[in-house]
Amino acid sequence: MSNTAYIGIGSNLGSPRENCERSIVLLGAHPKIEVTARSSFYKTEPVGSRDQDWFLNVAIQIATDLEPLALLDALLSIESSMGRIRAEKWGPRIIDLDILLYEDSVIKSDRLKIPHPEMTQRGFVLAPLAQLAPNLIHPMAKKTIRQLLSELPEDKKVVRL
Ligand code: ATP
Ligand code: CA
Ligand code: CA
Repeated sequence: MSNTAYIGIGSNLGSPRENCERSIVLLGAHPKIEVTARSSFYKTEPVGSRDQDWFLNVAIQIATDLEPLALLDALLSIESSMGRIRAEKWGPRIIDLDILLYEDSVIKSDRLKIPHPEMTQRGFVLAPLAQLAPNLIHPMAKKTIRQLLSELPEDKKVVRL
């Protein structure tokens, strides 16, 4: 498997921990994806509508032979297979799988943006990612993940479990 990518995983419906675990099993079961590292779980205040349960977030590192768009399709198909229904943006969800980084690619198509556009503003993405790859350089910000995390205002609570 020739390319390294990082996936952000989140859930706040049903049993979030089981949902995250199951998505990691399903990712690893894909013939062209190998899960090579995972972070701790983080508990996070929801973005958007506050009238929903806290999120559980985790980040993983994968090695993959899928090109970025094929990887996105694999993630969306795992989300569907787990019963995710797309309703309101940032609403509650069984599982959310986002491509955070793919090698040092910069992609800006309609279907796919890499690095994930909001990641530099989100503690629930940067905190687990910093555990896996503190010295990785964000290809647009040109800063390390650790640096980006340290620059975040501490308004949103992200609790390592
Ligand atoms: P956000 O992207 O702000 O975290 P979200 O994860 O709730 O919001 P979704 O409804 O899960 O948004 O995804 C909507 C679409 O975003 C997907 O169908 C996909 O085409 C697109 N998308 C663009 N870039 C990415 C990426 N890096 N990873 C996953 N999906 C992406
Ligand atoms: Ca997301
Ligand atoms: Ca998503």
